[in-house]
Amino acid sequence: MAYCPECETDLDIDEDEVDEGAVVSCPECGTDFEVITVNPIELKKVGEDEIDDEDEDEEAAVKEEAEDEDDL
Ligand SMILES: [Zn+2]
Repeated sequence: MAYCPECETDLDIDEDEVDEGAVVSCPECGTDFEVITVNPIELKKVGEDEIDDEDEDEEAAVKEEAEDEDDL
């Protein structure tokens, strides 16, 4: 048995019924979660981390260009 980390709804999944890496959706709030481990069931929200990483890379590139101009 597992509960939604977002809204604590009973997701009605059993460790015998899901595999690691499977994606489950909460019927109450619609959030998708990846199954990280099955014993005990541990869920991770799908999606948002990758978008944050891309934003950080762009900001770092802009800062490097600004520093180069200061040297000239
Ligand atoms: Zn939920």
